[in-house]
Amino acid sequence: MKPENEKLLLEAGAELGFDLTAQAETFGRLLDLLVTASARTNLTSLRDEWAIVLKHFIDSLTCLRGGWLDGEQRVLDLGTGAGFPALPLAIVRLELHITAMDATHKKVEFVERAARELGLTNVEPLVGRAETLGRQPGQREGYSRVVTRAVAALPILAELSLPFLALGGFLVAQKGVLDAGELEAGTRAAAEVGGDVRAVDTFTLPVLGDARTLVVIEKTGPTPQRYPRREGVPNKQPLFWRAT
Ligand code: SAH
Repeated sequence: MKPENEKLLLEAGAELGFDLTAQAETFGRLLDLLVTASARTNLTSLRDEWAIVLKHFIDSLTCLRGGWLDGEQRVLDLGTGAGFPALPLAIVRLELHITAMDATHKKVEFVERAARELGLTNVEPLVGRAETLGRQPGQREGYSRVVTRAVAALPILAELSLPFLALGGFLVAQKGVLDAGELEAGTRAAAEVGGDVRAVDTFTLPVLGDARTLVVIEKTGPTPQRYPRREGVPNKQPLFWRAT
């Protein structure tokens, strides 16, 4: 990583309250892996080093706000893509056991290779769709936390995520700007699948100042067996919501 980008990582990390000095080298190696892999495939749309540092690494770490992911947790990253937030989380929180799941084989392969090369033994790759995995024994109610970044609208996320949570677990959803309609539909969808909105935390991304929202939903009751609906249905017919 270029010295100016390492400086950016440390400064932006400090804004979030983290001292990333000890992890800077690992983030640098992840950056190299991403840049090399992205030159061959369209693994991530971000090309510039500084953009990867801020919009992938630092943005991923913002899900630690509020302490919802503190302690030893079994975490599912639903729709991890090229490993976000799973890989940055695994780098800074060795005590988290993170399953990095995505429907796309190629992306999960990258995450698996990155975790191996970075020596992250707390990341487990998983290929599949949430609609299917969320019905499997061992997966359904198999996690104490679900994190998800840039995957779908809130009502869809509620239906896809809540089945994976044990009672008392939390979904921490990373969103950009959240309008009132999406939040309202998400709140109703959460209630339908056994969840209660516990926090809506709005803030800005360090350095760039982009608007971000963390939505935290607690699993307060069992998810009815009919959820999640079959593949594609949660997206096509989101609970309580009509996309505009
Ligand atoms: N979380 C990553 C990737 C976001 S792109 C990031 O923030 O950079 C959304 C990803 O979610 C895609 O890789 C897509 O394959 C995955 N995805 C969308 N719906 C899914 C589903 N129902 N089950 C599993 N993965 C899904």
